[in-house]
Amino acid sequence: MTDVELSVIGDTRGEPSGYDSAIAAVPDGCYLMIDGQRALKVNVLGRALRELSDASAANVGERLHHANWTLTTDPETVRRLGLMHDCAACRAGVDQALARLREVPDGEIAVGQLWWAP
Ligand SMILES: [Zn+2]
Repeated sequence: MTDVELSVIGDTRGEPSGYDSAIAAVPDGCYLMIDGQRALKVNVLGRALRELSDASAANVGERLHHANWTLTTDPETVRRLGLMHDCAACRAGVDQALARLREVPDGEIAVGQLWWAP
């Protein structure tokens, strides 16, 4: 499966003042089956990723500048994008995502690279 990339735009008036990664399983509601093929409902996915981006920013008391999300089933991509900084929270998120991929190899993981507004 090809990776899907989606951006979420926040307050982009200034230069980003910081960044973090975020990882989540793509919610089932984001998919539709068409002729036995899994298709993405991009409008639903976009809303989910916006909520996730805003919630991640709020969690650490920041505002969103922008976020780049990648949907992937590739453990290497999860590791590369998920460890923007090698902190305990990012490592835990990556470990959890890799464990899920071992259980559900075709279950896409959304890996976000989030930048904070100044
Ligand atoms: Zn981190």
